[in-house]
Amino acid sequence: MMSLFNKTYFKVKLEQQPQQADGVLWLKCKACKELVFKKRVRENHNICPNCGQYFFLTAKERVALLVDEGSFFDISRPIVAGDTLQFVDTLPYTQRLQQAFDKTGLHDAIIVGQATIGHVPVVLATMDFQFIGGSMGSVMGEQIAHGIRTAAHEKHPFILVSATGGARMQEGILSLMQMAKTTSARQLLARAGVLFVSVMTYPTTAGVQASIASLGDIILAEKGALIGFTGRRVIEETIKEKLPPEFQTDRFAFEHGLVDRVVRRREMRQELIQLLHFFAAPQSEQDKALKKSGLNLLKQGSARG
Ligand SMILES: [Zn+2]
Repeated sequence: MMSLFNKTYFKVKLEQQPQQADGVLWLKCKACKELVFKKRVRENHNICPNCGQYFFLTAKERVALLVDEGSFFDISRPIVAGDTLQFVDTLPYTQRLQQAFDKTGLHDAIIVGQATIGHVPVVLATMDFQFIGGSMGSVMGEQIAHGIRTAAHEKHPFILVSATGGARMQEGILSLMQMAKTTSARQLLARAGVLFVSVMTYPTTAGVQASIASLGDIILAEKGALIGFTGRRVIEETIKEKLPPEFQTDRFAFEHGLVDRVVRRREMRQELIQLLHFFAAPQSEQDKALKKSGLNLLKQGSARG
């Protein structure tokens, strides 16, 4: 049997975030070219205070932005990727993994945990683009499946935040298999009647967009998200057509029915709270009565109409 995973035990400590010891005080915004004070950018949810452009969030920053403070408990499985194919590009895969670990403190491009959002218990899986482009290999596939299994078992909504370039080429076919694996795991949520909210951020592309990220009951795009399967040039050359300039933007995805709503970063938590309370919160007797009378009104309305 091939060894897909090496077992190592680890826990992600959220308190250890963003103190990147790089000593950088200023960042240059790619959009407005202004030098902006890094601390102000961090305080502003990594949004440029000058022009509103979004900077990347690490998985830990994203978690901190969404969950009720102090509620996140890491349940990631204690696994790291094995180098089954002995793959070497400009670097051996094992070295690339080590580099990504040194940079992010993560063992792969995703963390999975249980938390509450607006006091509703959820399972939250969050990708980190800084770890080999947020790519999905055998570990990410397993972590997502593990998150889904936990959510289905506990009957807690499952939330997946994607930031990914797609499948991890260093694992070849093994990484493509994760599309099938996560897709079939998703059935567990449907069978258990558990809500699945997929949040697409910049970027959500290729193998992840073409599998689990597109299978949410509700799909939200963070404003500014890039959503698509493959790059513009490749598509244009394949179909021999010029693509519209807004192709693969959040708005384009929304207008073509790929996502249900486009949400600003600072409003994402509130949006999730609203959805969770509507679909998944335990209801008081008063809520139930209200919902029932609302449904009756709807029925009467449709009977009249
Ligand atoms: Zn800017």
